Amino acid sequence: MKGKHIPERTCIGCGTKQSKYAMWRIVFHAPDRIVLDRKYREPGRGAYLCPKRDCLENALKRRALHRAYRTQVPAACYEQLKEAFYEALKENTVDAR
Ligand SMILES: [Zn+2]
Repeated sequence: MKGKHIPERTCIGCGTKQSKYAMWRIVFHAPDRIVLDRKYREPGRGAYLCPKRDCLENALKRRALHRAYRTQVPAACYEQLKEAFYEALKENTVDAR
Protein backbone atom coordinates (compact mmCIF):
# COMPACT_ATOMS: atom_id res chain seq x y z
CA MET A 1 0.00 0.00 0.00
CA LYS A 2 1.20 3.45 -0.83
CA GLY A 3 0.78 6.15 1.77
CA LYS A 4 -0.64 8.92 -0.29
CA HIS A 5 -3.05 8.75 -3.14
CA ILE A 6 -1.92 10.66 -6.19
CA PRO A 7 -4.57 10.94 -8.88
CA GLU A 8 -3.30 9.44 -12.10
CA ARG A 9 -4.38 10.20 -15.61
CA THR A 10 -3.54 8.77 -18.99
CA CYS A 11 -2.03 10.97 -21.66
CA ILE A 12 -4.20 10.88 -24.78
CA GLY A 13 -1.07 11.35 -26.89
CA CYS A 14 1.35 8.68 -25.72
CA GLY A 15 -0.81 6.60 -23.37
CA THR A 16 1.52 7.04 -20.40
CA LYS A 17 -0.12 7.03 -17.01
CA GLN A 18 1.19 9.47 -14.46
CA SER A 19 0.22 12.03 -11.84
CA LYS A 20 -2.33 14.40 -13.29
CA TYR A 21 -0.28 17.29 -11.93
CA ALA A 22 2.50 16.39 -14.32
CA MET A 23 0.12 16.91 -17.21
CA TRP A 24 -2.02 19.58 -18.76
CA ARG A 25 -5.76 19.32 -18.78
CA ILE A 26 -7.76 20.07 -21.89
CA VAL A 27 -11.45 20.83 -21.67
CA PHE A 28 -13.78 20.93 -24.61
CA HIS A 29 -16.97 22.98 -24.45
CA ALA A 30 -19.23 21.86 -27.23
CA PRO A 31 -19.68 22.87 -29.89
CA ASP A 32 -16.60 24.95 -30.57
CA ARG A 33 -14.51 26.06 -27.62
CA ILE A 34 -11.45 24.34 -26.26
CA VAL A 35 -9.50 25.38 -23.19
CA LEU A 36 -6.00 24.52 -22.11
CA ASP A 37 -6.51 24.27 -18.36
CA ARG A 38 -3.18 24.18 -16.61
CA LYS A 39 -4.71 24.94 -13.21
CA TYR A 40 -7.21 22.03 -13.24
CA ARG A 41 -10.09 24.39 -12.51
CA GLU A 42 -12.09 24.50 -15.69
CA PRO A 43 -15.43 22.72 -15.29
CA GLY A 44 -16.30 20.07 -17.80
CA ARG A 45 -14.90 16.88 -19.13
CA GLY A 46 -11.12 16.91 -19.22
CA ALA A 47 -8.54 15.09 -21.28
CA TYR A 48 -4.90 15.01 -20.28
CA LEU A 49 -1.69 15.50 -22.20
CA CYS A 50 1.96 15.50 -21.20
CA PRO A 51 3.37 18.99 -21.78
CA LYS A 52 5.17 17.76 -24.88
CA ARG A 53 4.84 18.67 -28.50
CA ASP A 54 4.97 15.00 -29.52
CA CYS A 55 2.04 14.09 -27.34
CA LEU A 56 -0.11 16.88 -28.71
CA GLU A 57 0.69 16.02 -32.29
CA ASN A 58 0.11 12.37 -31.70
CA ALA A 59 -3.24 13.08 -30.07
CA LEU A 60 -4.35 15.30 -32.95
CA LYS A 61 -3.24 12.78 -35.54
CA ARG A 62 -5.08 9.95 -33.82
CA ARG A 63 -8.18 12.06 -33.26
CA ALA A 64 -7.80 11.24 -29.59
CA LEU A 65 -9.76 14.32 -28.55
CA HIS A 66 -12.74 13.15 -30.47
CA ARG A 67 -12.53 9.87 -28.59
CA ALA A 68 -11.85 11.40 -25.18
CA TYR A 69 -14.92 13.64 -25.34
CA ARG A 70 -17.07 11.18 -27.26
CA THR A 71 -18.15 13.90 -29.60
CA GLN A 72 -17.07 15.67 -32.74
CA VAL A 73 -14.33 18.24 -32.14
CA PRO A 74 -14.17 20.74 -34.99
CA ALA A 75 -10.87 21.32 -36.78
CA ALA A 76 -10.89 24.94 -35.63
CA CYS A 77 -10.60 23.69 -32.05
CA TYR A 78 -7.60 21.60 -32.96
CA GLU A 79 -5.99 24.77 -34.22
CA GLN A 80 -6.98 26.71 -31.10
CA LEU A 81 -5.53 24.03 -28.91
CA LYS A 82 -2.31 23.82 -30.87
CA GLU A 83 -1.78 27.55 -30.53
CA ALA A 84 -2.47 27.62 -26.80
CA PHE A 85 -0.36 24.54 -26.24
CA TYR A 86 2.67 25.84 -28.10
CA GLU A 87 2.41 29.19 -26.33
CA ALA A 88 2.31 27.43 -22.99
CA LEU A 89 5.24 25.23 -23.94
CA LYS A 90 7.31 28.32 -24.62
CA GLU A 91 6.55 29.71 -21.18
CA ASN A 92 7.10 26.35 -19.63
CA THR A 93 10.59 25.63 -20.90
CA VAL A 94 12.20 27.57 -18.05
CA ASP A 95 10.64 25.69 -15.18
CA ALA A 96 10.17 22.35 -16.93
CA ARG A 97 11.04 19.50 -14.61
ZN1 LIG B 1 2.14 11.93 -23.36
